[in-house]
Amino acid sequence: MPERTLTGVGVSPGRGAGPVVVAPPHVPPPSSSQPGATDAEQIPAAAARVRAELEEAAKATTGEARAVLEATALMATDPSLVATAQALVGEDVGPARAVWEAATRIVDDLRALGGPMAERAWDVIDVRDRVVAALTGRSRPGVPDPGHPYVLVATDLSPVDVAMLDPARTRGIVTTRGGPVSHTAILARALGIPAVVGVHGAARLTEGTLVVVDGGAGTVTIDASDDEVSQAAAGARPHRSFTGEGRTLDGQHIPLLANIGRPEDAAAAAAAGAEGIGLLRTEFCFLGRRQAPGHAEQVDAYRRVFASFPGRTVVVRTLDAGSDTPLPFVTSAEEPNPALGVRGFRAFVDHPQLLDDQLAAIADAAADSAADVWVMAPMVTTTADAEEFVSRCTAQGLSTAGVTIEVPAAALRAGQLLSRAAFGSIGTNDLTQYAMAADRQNSELAHLCTPWQPAVLDLVAAACRGGAQQGRPVGVCGEAAADPALALVLVGLGASSLSMAPSALADVAAVLGRTAREMCEHLAAVALAAESAADARASVRALLPVLQELGL
Ligand code: PEP
Ligand code: MG
Repeated sequence: MPERTLTGVGVSPGRGAGPVVVAPPHVPPPSSSQPGATDAEQIPAAAARVRAELEEAAKATTGEARAVLEATALMATDPSLVATAQALVGEDVGPARAVWEAATRIVDDLRALGGPMAERAWDVIDVRDRVVAALTGRSRPGVPDPGHPYVLVATDLSPVDVAMLDPARTRGIVTTRGGPVSHTAILARALGIPAVVGVHGAARLTEGTLVVVDGGAGTVTIDASDDEVSQAAAGARPHRSFTGEGRTLDGQHIPLLANIGRPEDAAAAAAAGAEGIGLLRTEFCFLGRRQAPGHAEQVDAYRRVFASFPGRTVVVRTLDAGSDTPLPFVTSAEEPNPALGVRGFRAFVDHPQLLDDQLAAIADAAADSAADVWVMAPMVTTTADAEEFVSRCTAQGLSTAGVTIEVPAAALRAGQLLSRAAFGSIGTNDLTQYAMAADRQNSELAHLCTPWQPAVLDLVAAACRGGAQQGRPVGVCGEAAADPALALVLVGLGASSLSMAPSALADVAAVLGRTAREMCEHLAAVALAAESAADARASVRALLPVLQELGL
């Protein structure tokens, strides 16, 4: 008898049940010629229609989903995409085929870059399929709304597909591909839809089969019984909000902070109750440029973030160029092994002025703001790195300079690094990929690349011990902090603050408020004693009935 339970990686907590709806396949490549269609002018017209449609959909939503739809709407009329496609139109190539080919070239280039750039390929694929559908009169691609609650099953889903889902009707998401840091996972969390990705047997799920999705445990139960369905409904994740402070049951304050990647996200993070910003990724200022942004532009961007957090901590991370964020004016396109190459702080060795300019802009923005501005550098590896960064910060008048701890060497030597730096912030996304030698974007390695790996937790523990030796705070800013059960483990290991996607704050606050510090320490010991990530997760969850009670 086939297994009734499929397992994958739970990326958005909560339980939901419903009949399976299988996502339709992507739009197929159009044939080269379209009889009677040689008019290149059809392309900008179709692109404009798609843009308007996506803008309309954006208006109906908020937060991260809205940001995705707005960005994809802009991509629809991207001048280089439209112009390349128009130039390809000829006797043998109709407008739809031309759009397909022009977009596919961009997709291939983005995929070759890997990492978040590869994730952007999705926006182009979405736009391509929509413009092709508009040109060929096909029905609009995307997930059809069946008009009743359902569980969506797909090989993979684009961010736009997820952003357009109705959270009231979509009871769960199950995909064959995808990893915990994919955009799809982040959006599912933001919309509060339970999701399990990397489910190998998902292709077995046929339309109409009743399933229960448990995004906390990472399981999908096939042919669910009435009892299982009603239990899932009873445990559905209610809408929660958060204001105030993150505290354990016995009152220890654990600041709950937000990770953001654009100034326009700061206000939403404040509205979601974030006690500050634990990670401002500053790559947004630099991406897609031929040269670094000027001083005034950077000051303005940082100021906009600080304005939302008067009297609160805002941790600005300096540019993390290289690896999955190549920048032509900083990093080499020839790098044979970019994740282990010149990235993060290392990229500044040949470009010290770039760092000094960024620090000067942060300092100027901080000077006339009421936020308590801290700075940290990515990919700090040695004590010499920490010393160098702190002295450059001091020279610019930035007195709270810290280090991200995302390289195993830095975690093991955190005591020495933190004898130089004011604080540490553990980036569990990179720390996990380096500890496990497993590319964080490779969905086939999702079982290895999880911060539940006891080896990763050993490194977190070492980093926290190093901080404690020096009396320096060490927080966590990787995706691990957004998993309510793991967040408790991190606190038990000694994390002084947790920074996460704003949408995770309320769930983490709720679980933390129901768990005493001593219990967090016990959970940490249990996780460290486990022999696998799956055991660590299962043993910790088994000790936390509160997760079931809260629908997590
Ligand atoms: C991390 O590595 O955990 C982190 C927070 O940084 P990023 O995801 O931007 O690499
Ligand atoms: Mg990182």
